[in-house]
Order: sequence, then C-alpha cells, then structure tokens
Amino acid sequence: MPGYNTHRRFNYAVLLIVMTLFYFRDIRIFDLLQFIILGAGFYAGTEFITPDLDIQSRAIKRWGVFKILWYPYMILFEHGKSSHNIIYGAVVRLLYITAIILGVYYLLFRALPSDVMILPLGYVLTFITGIILANALHVILDMLF
Ligand SMILES: [Zn+2]
Repeated sequence: MPGYNTHRRFNYAVLLIVMTLFYFRDIRIFDLLQFIILGAGFYAGTEFITPDLDIQSRAIKRWGVFKILWYPYMILFEHGKSSHNIIYGAVVRLLYITAIILGVYYLLFRALPSDVMILPLGYVLTFITGIILANALHVILDMLF
C-alpha cells in the first residue's frame, strides 16, 4: 500500500489537475469562499482525517497527543476494511471524531454547543465534502497499488 507521502502527493496532484481543468474550461461551481472551505476540508482529509487512522501511521502521529482519541477507532476498525470504504469510511470517521469532541465539550461545559457557535450548514457540508473527496482519493490509490 502506498505510504503517507505518496497519498499526499497523489491527492494534491489530482486537486491541481482538476483545478487546472476547471480553470481552462471556465467551470465555476464554487465561489471563492466555498472553494477555500472545500480546500481546507481537502487538506484536513489528506493530512489528518485519513483512512489510515486505523493503524499506527504517519497520519496518526500528526495528531500529536490527541492521537489517543483514535486508539478506540483502531481497535474497532481492522486496517484496510470498512475504514477504507469509499462511501461510508469518511462518514464514520467524521461521526466518530464529532462524537468525541461533543462528548469532551459536554464534560467541560455541562451543555452542548449553542446554535450561535455552530457554523452555517452549507459551509460545514462543503468542508465535509473536501474531507470525503480527499479520503476517496486515498482509497482509490490504495486499490490501484
Ligand atoms: Zn490506506
């Protein structure tokens, strides 16, 4: 299976090619802010929230002390199986980390975040789409090699 840096190079190369194609074909799906948010999600999905969080990988080391949050995930998900599912792998990871963040927030503040603190749904979905696209490219590269 390709290593961490191979996945990073592949993801950014595909992103660059797609951006170039869109630019020269004059295809505009997103405005600038949406594009930046999508890019941030793609970055997060390439560098931090990757399918390889199911093993002791470079991705898990990038979490620093917070890598401990992913240990239950490693136990729950066997490497390369459902964590590498192109449809629901990323969704399960996002639900997992969201549940932990909300759980810690609740323990600290004895309440869940208020509506004011939650970003507009469109931006959240765009960010999540970036993560899902980056994770899908990871799985595709794993399937090829
Ligand atoms: Zn992998």
